[in-house]
Amino acid sequence: MSELGHKGWIDKAAAIRFRDKAFIDGKFVAARSGRTFASINPATGETLAEVASCGEEDVDRAVASARRAFASGSWSRATPARRKEVLLRLAQLLHENLHELALLESLDMGKLVADAATIDVPGSAGIFQWYAEAIDKLYDEVAPTGSGDLVLVRREPLGVVGAVVPWNFPLDMATWKCAPALATGNSVVLKPAEQSPFSALRLAELAMEAGLPAGVLNVVPGLGETAGQALGRHMDVDCLAFTGSTAVGKMFLQYSGQSNMKQVWLETGGKSPNLVFADCGNLDAAADMAAFGIFFNQGEVCSANSRLLVQRSIKDAMVEKLAERAAATQPGDPLDPASKMGALVDARHAANVMRFVEAGKKTARLVTGGEQVTVNGRGSFVQPTIFDNVSPQDTIAREEIFGPVLSVIAFDDEDEALQIANDSVYGLAASLWTDSLSRAHRIAERLHAGTVSVNTVDALSPMTPFGGFKQSGFGRDLSLHALDKYTALKTTWIKY
Ligand code: NDP
Repeated sequence: MSELGHKGWIDKAAAIRFRDKAFIDGKFVAARSGRTFASINPATGETLAEVASCGEEDVDRAVASARRAFASGSWSRATPARRKEVLLRLAQLLHENLHELALLESLDMGKLVADAATIDVPGSAGIFQWYAEAIDKLYDEVAPTGSGDLVLVRREPLGVVGAVVPWNFPLDMATWKCAPALATGNSVVLKPAEQSPFSALRLAELAMEAGLPAGVLNVVPGLGETAGQALGRHMDVDCLAFTGSTAVGKMFLQYSGQSNMKQVWLETGGKSPNLVFADCGNLDAAADMAAFGIFFNQGEVCSANSRLLVQRSIKDAMVEKLAERAAATQPGDPLDPASKMGALVDARHAANVMRFVEAGKKTARLVTGGEQVTVNGRGSFVQPTIFDNVSPQDTIAREEIFGPVLSVIAFDDEDEALQIANDSVYGLAASLWTDSLSRAHRIAERLHAGTVSVNTVDALSPMTPFGGFKQSGFGRDLSLHALDKYTALKTTWIKY
């Protein structure tokens, strides 16, 4: 993707058009109140556009449109083959508009455009393609009741799905919810994060171009406490799929209980441990991936490997290798393909990350980083930061920082490693490095995490379920299992 070069990306960015209205019933419309919010490029501090700030009445309009579309059957009762055709075309359109979508991601939330162009956008296209291809290969059931009865057990779409997603992978998170929900015939009302609305708005437009009927995918940009809450409390939303913080995830459970008992699926925070044992045969690979696991996407990853647990005999060697990798991962202009790390999502989040860094400086040994910096004199960037001699009880070892900040903790044996790894309210992901197959299985079995990666970090694919244990949430994104969230089983009992 870097065939464009720095200047190529800058030129394309100068020409980009931001969709700044809500997308309801197949059209871009202003918020009824006329309110807007500023979308700011965190790498420069410049305002990109004033975006429609949807309130309750806009969410009502979007839900009504989604319900009408669902009831019409134009999508909900379309054949799986037809839905496949449209979603495959959408995947193709994502590829065709790759440069534009990658730029929207980068400008909106600060990530490296090269990553967006090689990981985020192709990833989203791949997920639409995967669900499109799956949907006409799923068979329903006939229950084994015996002669005289024919009992069909069929999956049906739920109706209107609300999706509330975060800013760290704006297009991917929208896709993780929308692709399986749409593939199964639901209508969707999507609320992107305030910090990153543009790719979701463009996605909805491209979906219509691909043939999705009007009203099947609506996008309501706006603030969490207004648009997000209105969706969560809506009496005509059947299911709410959320990715974001644990605190807001808990609010959605309350909204549901206080409204129509809609199904709620939560993918929330993490404090994922990465365990490196002394019998790991390739410490350089472990260090490469440990650095990737915390510095990729500025550490703004729910499954970031933010706790590095290292067996004491190799700890100092590992810390030295990591410091070298941190030195090579300094922040730079997100539009420069040579840059290794982008900007944090906004100044407020950078200040939050720095509060954790300052707390860490008081309790642990700062190995490298620890400063907020600018690039070309502007923007919200934080250096890749490593703390050594971290105690499992320290704030930086317990709370989700969501920035490029690694806590290194030493352990002596397997039991201690497991005790530290599992001593967290979260259980999203974990990694471990060892050359012993037995140890790998033993530890993987006892780690409290939705995904355990062995001799790699943060492994995921459209084929594998992604989601957490404990306060990392429940329900699984990706894989065929995600379809369970957006469908209900119906039994039809026929006597003959
Ligand atoms: P939030 O959980 O606040 O935001 C996620 C989504 O929820 C956004 O669309 C947001 O809207 C919406 N939202 C916020 N408040 C409400 C509300 N009261 N009712 C309904 N919807 C709401 O995450 P933040 O963006 O504030 O990030 C805070 C922390 O959350 C991060 O530092 C990180 O620790 C964690 N996080 C975890 C993520 C994950 O992937 N697990 C992703 C993002 C954050 P809006 O942005 O417009 O307010």
